[in-house]
Amino acid sequence: MDLADRAEHKAFRAEVREFIAAHRHLAPEETADSYRLLPRPYSEKVRKWQSLLVDKGYASRTVPKSYGGFGAEPDILKTKIITDEFFRAGLPPALYNQGVSMLVPTLLEHGSEEQKKKWIEPTIRAEVFWCQGYSEPGAGSDLASLQTRAHEDGDDFVINGSKIWTSSAHIADMIFCLVRTETKAGKYDGISYLIFSMDTPGIEVRPLQTMTGHPSFNEVFFTDVRVPKSQVVGGRGKGWKIANSTLAHERGMLANTNHAAGRLQKITGMLKSETLNGRPLFENAVMMDRFIRLQARVQALRLHEMRLVTEAATGKPRNIADMVCKLLGCELNHQIDAFAIDILGEIGVLYDGVPSVHHDSIWQQFFMYDLGLIIGGGTAQIQKNIIAERGLDMPREPKSAKG
Ligand SMILES: Cc1cc2nc3c(=O)[nH]c(=O)nc-3n(C[C@H](O)[C@H](O)[C@H](O)COP(=O)(O)OP(=O)(O)OC[C@H]3O[C@@H](n4cnc5c(N)ncnc54)[C@H](O)[C@@H]3O)c2cc1C
Repeated sequence: MDLADRAEHKAFRAEVREFIAAHRHLAPEETADSYRLLPRPYSEKVRKWQSLLVDKGYASRTVPKSYGGFGAEPDILKTKIITDEFFRAGLPPALYNQGVSMLVPTLLEHGSEEQKKKWIEPTIRAEVFWCQGYSEPGAGSDLASLQTRAHEDGDDFVINGSKIWTSSAHIADMIFCLVRTETKAGKYDGISYLIFSMDTPGIEVRPLQTMTGHPSFNEVFFTDVRVPKSQVVGGRGKGWKIANSTLAHERGMLANTNHAAGRLQKITGMLKSETLNGRPLFENAVMMDRFIRLQARVQALRLHEMRLVTEAATGKPRNIADMVCKLLGCELNHQIDAFAIDILGEIGVLYDGVPSVHHDSIWQQFFMYDLGLIIGGGTAQIQKNIIAERGLDMPREPKSAKG
């Protein structure tokens, strides 16, 4: 497929550029990176910017108007134009997080009318912050082994158990959570997908530090937490299917290749300004060799993404191909961070808050954080298993014998 802009898309690109020129003074200074490294409630400026993007159709573009979105027909090329133009202008794009990027599309696919009406608009306008309660101490890669249970009491479920590695639970307003509700059903059939407020009595959140040194994920304990049965998404006992729908959206979110391209752009500047024996690093053969290898991989990933855009435009499913982006993109980000640390030498290992940090980036923190993303949303090994088995038709991994 020829991805060059046709007349309609040329006009759309011009419209996006015009919007950016007229409104860039309203954009917040905070970047997606700064929120990812240190989760905190969104500032008023971020909320207003996000709401403006929704009103203009540059965020949650295809969410129906009746749920507070812009209501445009899906057009993957227009979506790509928006992302690329915001990236080119160095502006924060629309928010992507567990609420906007994972829960909202899941509710659109599986939620009841009441759930859609109640939760989609405040989520896309950054008024409600969500966390994801999936993993447990004994259920990570093998998620369906989860043991958090709920029994029925009148119109409520009463939840007992615990979750772990729950990103942003300490600041979240709401949680989407997997809970075993059907005692007699099998491993995959007894799970329900519940949404409820983090202020519900009986919830205790204990922050955990990540390798960045910041408390960005948590342990969450549930003791007799009462949640109305009407807050199940997609039907009682149907949670495994709904959970997988959310996971596919999570991989799509983590697979964003602009991230790697943006980091590489910063490195280009560093190779010009940093020196070794009085000469700029871009004259150093070893450094340039590493740079060009990374540049080639970023370019290859962007071309893969263009192929996916082409396939999506012709209606082909892209789930497994998205996994390739998540797997390679997260590993690539980590390698780019490592290269930046080597370029900067001892300054590269500084953390934020230290005055001599420069190039407006805290590469050591990115390095630690991005290692986490190779694990979060499904580890690299699990992604490889799925790509091999479902994408390449290779023999299935042996399962342990029953009993
Ligand atoms: C930064 C970060 C944020 C996170 N945020 C959240 C969140 O918000 N909500 C949430 O619910 N969870 C979250 N997680 C948890 C994440 O989903 C799990 O860590 C992940 O699924 C792996 O599970 P585990 O940690 O239990 O490791 P395990 O499943 O115990 O795996 C341990 C190791 O064994 C390997 N392994 C396991 N099974 C296989 C297999 N079949 N074949 C080959 N190798 C295998 C794994 O790849 C891994 O290297 C987050 C994790 C991180 C790092």
